[in-house]
Amino acid sequence: KFDKDFGQHILKNPGISDAIVDKAFLKPTDVVVEVGPGTGNITVRALEKAKKVIAIELDPRMGAEVTKRVQGTPLAKKLEVILGDVIKMPEMPPCDALISNTPYQISSPLIFKMLAMPNPPRVAVLMFQREFAKRLVARPGDALYSRLSVNVNFWATCKHIMKVGKQNFKPPPKVESDVVRIEPLVGSARPNIAFEEFDGLLRIAFNRKNKTLYAGFNQKEVLNMCERNYKVYCTLNNIPIDESLASAADLAAAGATNDAMDVEMDDDNEDNDNEENNDDDEAMEEDEDEDMPVFFKEQNDANAKDAKTPSKNPKSKVALIVKAKLNKVLTSTGLADKRARQCDQNDFLKLLLAFHEEGIHFS
Ligand code: SAM
Repeated sequence: KFDKDFGQHILKNPGISDAIVDKAFLKPTDVVVEVGPGTGNITVRALEKAKKVIAIELDPRMGAEVTKRVQGTPLAKKLEVILGDVIKMPEMPPCDALISNTPYQISSPLIFKMLAMPNPPRVAVLMFQREFAKRLVARPGDALYSRLSVNVNFWATCKHIMKVGKQNFKPPPKVESDVVRIEPLVGSARPNIAFEEFDGLLRIAFNRKNKTLYAGFNQKEVLNMCERNYKVYCTLNNIPIDESLASAADLAAAGATNDAMDVEMDDDNEDNDNEENNDDDEAMEEDEDEDMPVFFKEQNDANAKDAKTPSKNPKSKVALIVKAKLNKVLTSTGLADKRARQCDQNDFLKLLLAFHEEGIHFS
């Protein structure tokens, strides 16, 4: 009956469904989005407390089940079922609260999707596999500290609510679960920078989280992307690109060390610190997009026919200007020799703002 590929581990303990809904502190005026209502165990409780529940369900059989469950009751008119994959939806419906016994395959994309919303919900109460939940609350220096940890704690506050044993599900998953409450920063409390910029910087920093930021930002793909973005930035802002943008000394420094940097970069690429890889099919997915080369490759492919594609010659004038700017920022912020795993969110913010000052962008 249950489809393993859809992460269908149905809650059979009503106490847990109650607790998840209780911890959202719903108001009667709230619109709730529930991802993956399944047979509706959490849904009916949310319907009792909120104005409306929008349930997004991938499996049409489950969609029919939850609709049937409230049919003929006063709750029916408060329920809207949307059939489809929440991750593929261009935008999540606006809501006050997000609730989910999250299908393990979409843990990371669901969080990123919520954090990227310009007007995120007030609260999200989400159940995850324990290892994934630990990554959400990881701090600098922790083994599980990642791009996900930084983003969640930068754009929101995150608290562990309760542990849930695997015996509370049917069928039981292979691992234990945790419920967390995430409260996104909203209004004036939300950092006044683009999500894609901050996340773009973190992608680069955490692609080699055990390497220095200097090494990470001097990878060929990163330099190419920054060069492309810099050209766009200059065009949009009518900034002429010429040597006067960087001092002769800067250019000489970038040019002189170029070959040495390329050698170091190749060394880095041999060391793929994908230590979180796990072949277990129940294992949580990688949030890191640690496959950075693919990320950049896609961008490169998309730009292949673009006249703005960076010159193959790494010592082109713009390439040198961009390289000089990157390394000036890394040095002036004192972060060149630090590794992403040691940096806190203030370090990353300081870095981003300094890059922006120099016209360097990551999205
Ligand atoms: N909420 C129910 C409960 O707690 O008993 C079911 C939770 S079950 C872990 C996850 C549910 O999410 C399943 O009903 C599954 O079909 C659905 N689902 C899986 N992937 C989804 C996706 N990408 N978008 C929306 N729903 C999804």
